[in-house]
Amino acid sequence: MLEQRRVLATEIPGPRSRELQARTAAAVAAGVGVGLPVHVTEGAGGILRDADGNQLIDLGSGIAVTGVGNGNPRVVEAVTEQVRRFTHTCFMVTPYEPYVAVCERLNALTPGDHEKRSALFNSGAEAVENAVKVARVATGRPAVVVFEHAYHGRTNLTMAMTARSMPYKHGFGPFAPEVYRVPMAYPYRWPGGPEACAADALRVVTDAITTQVGAENTAAVVIEPIQGEGGFVVPPEGFLPGLADWCREHGVLLVADEVQTGFCRTGDWFACDHEGVVPDLVTTAKGIAGGMPLAALTGRAEVMDAVHRGGLGGTYGGNPVACAAALAAMESMAEDDLAGRARDLGKILGDRLSLLARRYPQVGDVRGRGAMMAMELVSDPDTREPDAALAAAVSRGCHERGVVTLTCGTYGNVFRFLPPLAIGEDLLHEAMDVLEESLAAALS
Ligand SMILES: *Cc1c(COP(=O)(O)O)cnc(C)c1O
Repeated sequence: MLEQRRVLATEIPGPRSRELQARTAAAVAAGVGVGLPVHVTEGAGGILRDADGNQLIDLGSGIAVTGVGNGNPRVVEAVTEQVRRFTHTCFMVTPYEPYVAVCERLNALTPGDHEKRSALFNSGAEAVENAVKVARVATGRPAVVVFEHAYHGRTNLTMAMTARSMPYKHGFGPFAPEVYRVPMAYPYRWPGGPEACAADALRVVTDAITTQVGAENTAAVVIEPIQGEGGFVVPPEGFLPGLADWCREHGVLLVADEVQTGFCRTGDWFACDHEGVVPDLVTTAKGIAGGMPLAALTGRAEVMDAVHRGGLGGTYGGNPVACAAALAAMESMAEDDLAGRARDLGKILGDRLSLLARRYPQVGDVRGRGAMMAMELVSDPDTREPDAALAAAVSRGCHERGVVTLTCGTYGNVFRFLPPLAIGEDLLHEAMDVLEESLAAALS
């Protein structure tokens, strides 16, 4: 296994990566942006090795995907074994057991002990699309309610559901109809302050649905229990349970988009578990299969089974190799207590970031849960003016020093931390030292 050590063999990106980047520019569509142009040749645990022999500490997990670690031995073995047996049949043509086993696991692990059914897809966006399809059939209603700062994907329907224009939607419209956006319970930026946020937001949101959409026209409210791309916005305690209650009272389905938050990332199997929220439908992807492309929709049996035969599916959905990977990844999460690991990593991240917040007023907010933490950077702590330039500068500093970091947020000013749950604590501390150095350099 790749040595769990940061190595700076050349400047970053090095000459081989720069060569490959020239080929990239000539061959790959310009619309596919790259955050840190080092071309990776190997990865394991918390380390990515590039074409120049640099070894970078990974604080992104390929956007919360490789939670169990790149090249997790259980996943590698399961995938290898499955590839040898068969690679594809299409489950809708001739089924196979690993697909069924993944659905059984998801039905058991997702919040709530009611009877459930699952269906498998290829990407998070596809899972969200199918959540909307199922919700519309099950309720006979057209409208879908989503939130400010939401991110649900890049297909036409999920672009409509995603909040941010640039770069996700800009120029790509017109978008799917019957999608309505309401304010997000965002404590740091709530006009009445964080204490008022839960009750205020619940009133504003339910009032907007009632008066502008009509509960009786609303199939589903779709929410990320902690927002991902939109800035790791954690709704205040009470908001999600209140929303779930309101939905239940009005026959509106609550869809939790757990694509980024799922699979131990936040210190529980799912982010909804934290407050005991039981959604009607749950979408998952990213961390589900140790890096193999797989997504799922899991929900109440009577809701899922409302769809006519043949109404759900796709050629590759629930590919057997991806299913084998998911079963191995979920076994690793349970056996290695990765939820507990996420809580331990979250404590380290939270402590280190809080120290930075005390030292630098530009660190306006530190938030998140488990191994899904962020700091929001502002130019002035009083006006809370977002500072995307600072986030970009700190990011550049981390990259040059061999740490893979990600930013996010509607204003591009949120620095997010998504280390593999398999990362060593010494490596995480070292990465936070690099962050500190890069922040100090950017502010000097
Ligand atoms: C990434 C993401 C999606 C889209 O998933 P893809 O696999 O990129 O299609 C949807 N919802 C959330 C919350 C996400 O973080």
